[in-house]
Amino acid sequence: MGTKLVEAGRREEWTGPVVNPPVWRASTHLYANEAERKAANANNNDGQFYYGRRGAPTQWALCEALTEIEPGGFGTILYPSGTAAIAQSLMAVLKPGDVLLVTDNAYDPSRNIATGILKRFGIEPRFFDPTDVAGFPDRFCERTKAVLFECPGSLTMEVQDVPALTAIAKAKSAVSLVDNTWGSPLGFPALERGCDISIMSLTKHVSGHSDVMMGSATARDERLYRRLRRTAQQLGNIVSPDDAALMLRGLRTMEVRLQRETESALAIARWLQDRDEVAHLLCPMIAGCPGHDIWKRDFTGGCGLFSFVLKGRTIEQRAAFIDALDLFGIGYSWGGFESLVIPFDPAEIRSATPWPPANWDSDNRLGIRLSIGLEDPKDLIKDLNQAFTAMDQE
Ligand SMILES: *Cc1c(COP(=O)(O)O)cnc(C)c1O
Repeated sequence: MGTKLVEAGRREEWTGPVVNPPVWRASTHLYANEAERKAANANNNDGQFYYGRRGAPTQWALCEALTEIEPGGFGTILYPSGTAAIAQSLMAVLKPGDVLLVTDNAYDPSRNIATGILKRFGIEPRFFDPTDVAGFPDRFCERTKAVLFECPGSLTMEVQDVPALTAIAKAKSAVSLVDNTWGSPLGFPALERGCDISIMSLTKHVSGHSDVMMGSATARDERLYRRLRRTAQQLGNIVSPDDAALMLRGLRTMEVRLQRETESALAIARWLQDRDEVAHLLCPMIAGCPGHDIWKRDFTGGCGLFSFVLKGRTIEQRAAFIDALDLFGIGYSWGGFESLVIPFDPAEIRSATPWPPANWDSDNRLGIRLSIGLEDPKDLIKDLNQAFTAMDQE
């Protein structure tokens, strides 16, 4: 994959003699004559100059690169954020009267898309237990037209049996979409595992530097790609060439960053596993953690994002732990070069599954998510250690 990441999307006609495509800042594209204008009008594809809203070489190079690294991908559309990618992909495949199944571990803004704008436009959202394969066929009805997966869940880290669940969706003629931000095509070849559309918040791993936002959706075939493209164009969707250039820069180093973050996350997770303060480690990359067996079977790589649940403790003690951390910034987002921490309490947002899970002690429910960056993991462990001490002095 390293070789692909270096070369993907680098066409000489777009870059010229320099390594990276220039930032083509353009709304107006000029035609040599009428015949050329008419030909451009008839050819609605990346690579065809037309008008700024259809992009220019900087955006096309990023689309092409993302398609090249997604096994089984036909084409990619860019969006101004990962949230926009999820909303527009769902709008592309659904119409009023349809039912959308959404995994109960979905990212909160994804839930809000389903229960907000989609519902307002006559689409009915229904949430399902992410790990219940046996009960999944019963979630479908005549009107179910799409399923939104998120694997692993970006807070609670449930690993879905995507091959089994997408096979059921396919048999029911529903489109499978997956929020593949955690895995990226490097860690989870979503289309090869049965999904029809693979969505990423590029803001996270691809950018890698916490300074730019974007999303993408890669479709497995031309029919779905055309639907995504038509919807995006009708909604006036476009990303800036400056942002696309930053994304291309991040993409080139993504594999080494992910490898390093994965190694550090594994070391830190193993250290946490032995701590008295930790009731549940939610890190599917670690043997014995929930979802590990499926993760090992289906994933080809990891990343620095995982969670744990405190043993007992109060909300104030959790806050004291987070406040005591020196090297972990308190912030949403993840996948940047710097480590981050955020607390989470999924009980408030879930509707199809309980939190804490039924087989846990109900005192153990306060979640903490870590995004491990590129710092020395020994320093991060030292920092976590002193924060645990501070927590119990609270
Ligand atoms: C951050 C995130 C998104 C949304 O991406 P934005 O670019 O912030 O809009 C979607 N899904 C997951 C799992 C995320 O973590």
